[in-house]
Amino acid sequence: MLSNIRVVLVGTSHPGNIGSTARAMKTMGLSTLYLAEPKVEPDGHSIALAAGASDILKHAKTVSSVEEAIADCSLVIATSARSRTLDWPMLEPREAGEKLVGSALNGPVAIVFGRENNGLTNEELQRCDYHVAIPANPEYTSLNLAQAVQIICYEARVAHLAQVESGVEPVPVDENDENLEAFPSSRERENFFEHLENTLLSTNFIVKNHPGQIMTKLRRLFSRTRIERQEMNILRGILTSIDKVVAKNETKDK
Ligand code: SAH
Repeated sequence: MLSNIRVVLVGTSHPGNIGSTARAMKTMGLSTLYLAEPKVEPDGHSIALAAGASDILKHAKTVSSVEEAIADCSLVIATSARSRTLDWPMLEPREAGEKLVGSALNGPVAIVFGRENNGLTNEELQRCDYHVAIPANPEYTSLNLAQAVQIICYEARVAHLAQVESGVEPVPVDENDENLEAFPSSRERENFFEHLENTLLSTNFIVKNHPGQIMTKLRRLFSRTRIERQEMNILRGILTSIDKVVAKNETKDK
């Protein structure tokens, strides 16, 4: 189950941090590492700091963007030391561990870490369901990247152990059972947002050159509600019905 929890490092610039991340993961029983647009590849320094965890480095997958790293994940949690201008649904590290472990039963989930110098961009943060900030000294909130990874992986381990100790066999959601909830993957959500934006552009609800904050706020709304796949399909059906009317009116106008 812990192998379904993917650690995604974005734009990492110090090979040592990649190695220390591998070690932090392995001590907690996690094994799946993605490097999204890394500024450096793992090197001898990474291997030295990974100590006995160089197998994780060897199997680390390098991809060109966060989108690619999280595309198939049904839950994505971003980490951030700073509070941002636009509030997003927030979790405590403990809650993040519990949610990751709970959702990992049904497939891949991700926890995303930012660049050493400037963290994650707002756009990257807005692709995630939740944000987690490790409560640190308010006058000095920024942990070393691999140390932040250690804390979140530890919380995932605590949640995993609690589940094992409870003796209750976790039951994965049956994807084929329509009565059970199943969350869309990040890629499905992105397709939905693209469809929503295109439809709102076609009705002129969003003005092309002055889009404002509408899409960001709608993203936040859907993050807050944690929309399920079936619900998203209903909304896509509604959008398609609007698209048809718009297309009909356009042909009439010609
Ligand atoms: N100067 C950057 C901090 C980068 S630290 C900024 O202001 O955003 C590198 C990464 O470590 C962050 O992007 C985040 O993923 C993680 N991190 C560091 N401190 C953290 C904290 N207090 N809570 C959550 N994540 C943290």
